[in-house]
Amino acid sequence: MASSKSAVSVQEALKIVLTSVSPLGWESISITEAFNRVLYEDIVSDIMIPPLDCSAMDGYALMAKDTRGASANSPIKLKLIGEIQAGALPAGLRVSTGTAIRIMTGAPMPQGADSVLKVEDALEESGHVTIYRETAQRENYRSAGENIQKGDNVLRRGDRLSSADIGILASLNHHKVKAYRQPTVSIISTGDELAGLGQEVRTGQIRDVNAYALYSEIKKYNGLPEYLGIAKDTFNDTKNLFLKALHSDVVISTGGSAMGRYDFINEIYADLDIELLFKWVKVKPGKPCIFGKKGDKLFFGLPGNPVASLTAFIQFVRPALLRLMGAQRVNKPVINACLKDTVRRKPSEKVHLLRGYFTIENNEFYVTTTGDQKSSIFRSMSQANCLIVFPENTAQITAGEKVAIQLLAHDEIL
Ligand code: AMP
Ligand code: MG
Repeated sequence: MASSKSAVSVQEALKIVLTSVSPLGWESISITEAFNRVLYEDIVSDIMIPPLDCSAMDGYALMAKDTRGASANSPIKLKLIGEIQAGALPAGLRVSTGTAIRIMTGAPMPQGADSVLKVEDALEESGHVTIYRETAQRENYRSAGENIQKGDNVLRRGDRLSSADIGILASLNHHKVKAYRQPTVSIISTGDELAGLGQEVRTGQIRDVNAYALYSEIKKYNGLPEYLGIAKDTFNDTKNLFLKALHSDVVISTGGSAMGRYDFINEIYADLDIELLFKWVKVKPGKPCIFGKKGDKLFFGLPGNPVASLTAFIQFVRPALLRLMGAQRVNKPVINACLKDTVRRKPSEKVHLLRGYFTIENNEFYVTTTGDQKSSIFRSMSQANCLIVFPENTAQITAGEKVAIQLLAHDEIL
């Protein structure tokens, strides 16, 4: 494990975070609450879907061999002997040579029939159906179990449930499902300069931005956020809020993570016996980024700067929350995009995560930066829809070259 004294790379930091996470336990939840939750159990079907052979079309159940030679010029007439609706049973109905049965989509196939001619290819009159084309065996025919077989492992532990997955659960009559528990996450803001919403602002004070940006980000990944308020820049005030946070699975503080005179987070970790696993990451923005662990509880001391705290959340807290919730795939989706304007940075050992805006033109991804990259300019984060990964030791990426971008939304493709 990397030394807690020196700065670690983003990859090293992510590895340290992920090896520190033990997935939480499970709870039983209604499938109406299960979207995006992570399955704790394998789902094995105890039925076949469809349960019976059935028709894929509104039409006529018949024997394919009876249609041989049928065409517009030489139609064939079959005797209509009944009808089967979806949801009905073909009670005693049986197709034999020269006969057909009117059938609806999803209705069970009657005995004797091996094919369905769709209604548009036939003409029905006075107890007969006239057929204008041949049908093949098993045409417009759904076989029992072709969707799901009994014993199929349709969903697996660790799957994040999509709407289609929830449809599958419904098809198997699962009202409830075992899902990984949602992590509880306490948020602590620090800084004498911060005023809470609605509070009076003294000259020089600013509003607490981080708590709200992170609150919504936690909810986005199905965590359960709790905002504990603003700690003044004193050891005791900060420690008091930490003590209130200790019931949570994850504690996030923002600010006070650097080495300034009023930065207490490192000291608090030492005081509370939180094992410090790293405190600097080679990334810009967001170098002072602390991570620690006590028992199964995770502690993130994110930078105070709103751009940096959100960027650090995306890199480290997001994957931790997903892993706590049992998700297998936790990496941020990254795609290549064509850079529209040349970007230059002072080469350094840090990866730069630039706020970018991607567009899709002729099915290709393009990206530009959202202007000034000073980490104090939070507005450019709100204008961004991606982060551009500008690698370490790089001076320039020229317009037209490909760059990796992390999408800020669209996580549902995970
Ligand atoms: P710090 O790391 O505590 O020195 O904070 C770095 C910068 O981020 C300072 O300019 C702080 O005013 C600012 N900052 C810290 N916490 C917040 C917050 N919760 N909301 C908005 N800005 C903050
Ligand atoms: Mg501060």
